[in-house]
Amino acid sequence: MKFSFVNKKDAKSEEIKEKLINKVKCSIDEQNPDVVVTIGGDGTVLDAVCKYVDQLETILFVTIHTGNLGFYTEFLPKDIDLIGDLLKNGNTVYHTYPLLELKINHNKYYGLNEVTLFHNRHLLETDVYINDEFLMQTRSNGVCISTPTGSTAYNKSLGGAVMDHEVEAFQLTLIAPFETINTRMISPIVLSKGNKITIKPLTENVEVSYDRNYLQRIDLKEIEITLSNKKVKFVKNRGHSLTSKLKDKFIG
Ligand code: NAP
Ligand code: MN
Repeated sequence: MKFSFVNKKDAKSEEIKEKLINKVKCSIDEQNPDVVVTIGGDGTVLDAVCKYVDQLETILFVTIHTGNLGFYTEFLPKDIDLIGDLLKNGNTVYHTYPLLELKINHNKYYGLNEVTLFHNRHLLETDVYINDEFLMQTRSNGVCISTPTGSTAYNKSLGGAVMDHEVEAFQLTLIAPFETINTRMISPIVLSKGNKITIKPLTENVEVSYDRNYLQRIDLKEIEITLSNKKVKFVKNRGHSLTSKLKDKFIG
């Protein structure tokens, strides 16, 4: 098996990487890995998925957290022996999470957490369509469309619902909506896979983010967002349910 590591550059993450290399005796292939090990936080996981977004079908991710518990990170540094055994025996069970697919001017981009459309200075006006049918005009700081796993990230801060990670759906929320008697908006909205959201900005020079990436001040007529067939596979730690993650991170 060929491995690649995407890790934070701090001493602790480097040390875990060395320990795991010794334990599994793996060969490193950064171009065509079978297993990608992330060491860091959820942000590190997003970077790794972005780096290998064209090879997700053949890659298994092992996600180790070095700080506080995360949502994508299944393992802690103390689990190195367990990870080594799982990988050696090929005895892995994994979570499969969908990405969002966004289409802009015939280009495709992918996000594991969310896509946002926003304007830094002006109130952003957009027309929102679902399956090419007009739904509403929005006035806000931005529009956020989140995956089930992204629902605990930006989406949650926007008053969106936390979603079961296994639900094949995506969710639209608004960033600081400016509602008046003339602009009525509904949000959050959860749609099942197969639906398409089209957002047409009426304001110029919008910016688009997808996870940690940005497209700045682009000439954009419309952006189409669907739940992609592209999926990521994260090796599962059996003792690590969504409920326990929610409790550990948000309830305490
Ligand atoms: P960051 O500045 O490090 O902050 C993002 C925080 O969200 C980090 O604590 C990160 O965890 C956590 N996070 C990432 N994905 C998550 C998930 N699916 N569920 C729960 N928590 C999650 O930003 P970053 O590391 O570059 O990550 C980019 C993400 O930041 C975006 O995808 C967006 O979701 C989020 N964001 C949130 C807001 C907001 O809530 N107001 C605004 C902008 C962006 P780790 O510390 O483990 O990396
Ligand atoms: Mn981060």
